[in-house]
Amino acid sequence: MLEQDGQNLLIDTSIDLRQQALKYNIQNIAVVLLTHTHADHIFGLDEIRRYNLVQQKRIPVFLSAESDQELRKVMYYLYETPRQKGGGVSMLDNNILQPYQQSTVCGYTVTALPIHHGQLEIFGYRVNNFAYLTDCSGIPEKTVEKLSGLEVLVLDALRDTPHPTHFSLDEAVAAAERIGAKQTYFTHIAHNLEHEAVNARLPESMQLAHDGLTFLV
Ligand SMILES: [Zn+2]
Ligand SMILES: [Zn+2]
Repeated sequence: MLEQDGQNLLIDTSIDLRQQALKYNIQNIAVVLLTHTHADHIFGLDEIRRYNLVQQKRIPVFLSAESDQELRKVMYYLYETPRQKGGGVSMLDNNILQPYQQSTVCGYTVTALPIHHGQLEIFGYRVNNFAYLTDCSGIPEKTVEKLSGLEVLVLDALRDTPHPTHFSLDEAVAAAERIGAKQTYFTHIAHNLEHEAVNARLPESMQLAHDGLTFLV
């Protein structure tokens, strides 16, 4: 999540969004960006309804055309006319982004960046001088070009052994070197990466992320 002028931009709505929002006192969500529709990235969308209630407005969601289609199937009840009163659902306005489209959203400059997630092409996002590339097993050259001059990059690194749909740690380090952000944090980490031991063998400019990590960009 990014915070700028009191407006929070959230990338993906993880299953534990409710617990994280309470733990870290997230007071508002101005906009949501979705990378893809795998369950671990969208199953917190139902929690957005609480922010609708508090903020008294619908919340924009930015996503690919493919994710939009999939979301309307998986969470159909968010996009159809309610059959009865009561039991409110999240009120979302989907906005489709084309690959490499740049938009100004709530004061943030957002660029949708195609990345490979196994056979799938999903979106990573550049937001100002920050980028978030989760669930990534390959990065097209054009996307790398759009990632120059980053302060902070958050990048997928699942584990040491190779995986068909996620970067291994070695692959992630190589990609991070190619991109050359001032600081890279690895995310989507499996249990078999021991936090302190792995950080000790990584350069200081590349470290494992953790829940509650904060930084300035
Ligand atoms: Zn995924
Ligand atoms: Zn995932």
